[in-house]
Amino acid sequence: MVNRTPLIAGNWKLHNDHLQAIALVQKLAWTLQDARHDHAAVEVAVFPPFTDLRSVQTLVSAEKFELRFGAQDVSEHDSGAHTGEVAASMLAKLECSYAIVGHSERRQDHGESSALVGRKAAAAVRHGVTPIICVGETEADLEQHGASAVPVQQLREALAELPAAGEIVVAYEPVWAIGSGKAATAEQAQQVAHALRQTIAEVRGDEAAASTRILYGGSVKSGNIAGFMREPDVDGALVGGASLDAAEFAAIARFQ
Ligand code: PEP
Repeated sequence: MVNRTPLIAGNWKLHNDHLQAIALVQKLAWTLQDARHDHAAVEVAVFPPFTDLRSVQTLVSAEKFELRFGAQDVSEHDSGAHTGEVAASMLAKLECSYAIVGHSERRQDHGESSALVGRKAAAAVRHGVTPIICVGETEADLEQHGASAVPVQQLREALAELPAAGEIVVAYEPVWAIGSGKAATAEQAQQVAHALRQTIAEVRGDEAAASTRILYGGSVKSGNIAGFMREPDVDGALVGGASLDAAEFAAIARFQ
């Protein structure tokens, strides 16, 4: 039986400057400490804007917080003439554990294809940063193709760009559930997570499939997290809005 340590990841999106980031991380770390959070049993990670990462790293390292952190995106390139991009090697130097790739807001706002998402994930893997590959269907996709078809296809196309080895995390985030207050049911999340795990098995083998963490994201709150975490193929959550409140995010990380 492979141990997949649950991961509760907070995507701050375009919120909090570096001073606000320090305040929120401090409050979150103290709230988790008060609750005697066992970081070895449940990993907690935050994803601030790029400009906050150095401040978060400095604070986490100075205070020896066990909190992890990562970036909301990463370049497919390692260096060169790519104005505005941030390289995975730069994130690695800032001790980022993770980089989110393929969030639906980037797919929508920046036209990112699954192949590009896969190349970004490959760049992260090259530099020892674990990519969190986001996939998910729109409401129209759901009506036309059911829940699993689009996320499975997105994952397949992204994995085609990746080397066979290297840790990845997959986040199933139905687009219709993000920021809508209308979360998927735990059963829906399980059904798609299971299909995604089967896809990983087909592309990367059974061992990789058994050890890869699959998160659910979309209107997760302290009131619904327990149901998701009871599902066998759901190994954590990618949380947007609710991660901006330290007490609520810490309660999600408790999930019992
Ligand atoms: C997200 O942005 O990844 C997300 C899941 O947002 P929310 O939790 O606000 O629905």
